[in-house]
Amino acid sequence: MATTPDPQDLSALVADCAACAGLCCVAPGFDAGDDFAFDKRALAPCRHLGSDNLCRIHETLEDQGFPGCARFDCKGAGPYVMQHIFPRKRWRKDRETLEAIAEAYRRMRAICDMIELFRVAENLPLSPSQETARRDMLDRLLPQTAWTADTLAQAEMGGLLSDARAVLSSFRDAATRR
Ligand code: SF4
Ligand code: SF4
Repeated sequence: MATTPDPQDLSALVADCAACAGLCCVAPGFDAGDDFAFDKRALAPCRHLGSDNLCRIHETLEDQGFPGCARFDCKGAGPYVMQHIFPRKRWRKDRETLEAIAEAYRRMRAICDMIELFRVAENLPLSPSQETARRDMLDRLLPQTAWTADTLAQAEMGGLLSDARAVLSSFRDAATRR
């Protein structure tokens, strides 16, 4: 029987394209240039994305003009959105679903970037109160009850990321003690 993934499992926060739905290949737009071989509009699937939502040129991204894709790491935002927030939803079915998934993915990416910084901060010589603040903020960034589209939007409006930046700034003295 399939088990429900633990929403607080930090080790599960890694890019896993098989557990995702090609979110980085449909949600954001990009411009032709050094990183991408052509322009793509936001919410339009890349022309190299297969119907299985996997990249058809994954092995040759750099050679085909997509070093930006080769370097990209969603840090687990895509699988989190598709496993916890929109399980069993298919973005190809309707525009409204696609827009909702893309918004959740954008917000979750920002949270995953922040989680990475708080995980790296574990290696700093933090005081006990700073370590408590680090763990508390990780709990806010990855709550026990999985994020939903609504709670992600509320967290963004409520300033979760600016709170997290403020806590990170308070670690500056520890960074200089290293
Ligand atoms: S969002 Fe992440 S997991 Fe999903 S396809 Fe892109 S890199 Fe893979
Ligand atoms: S080239 Fe591949 S990895 Fe890059 S956006 Fe297109 S489908 Fe995704």
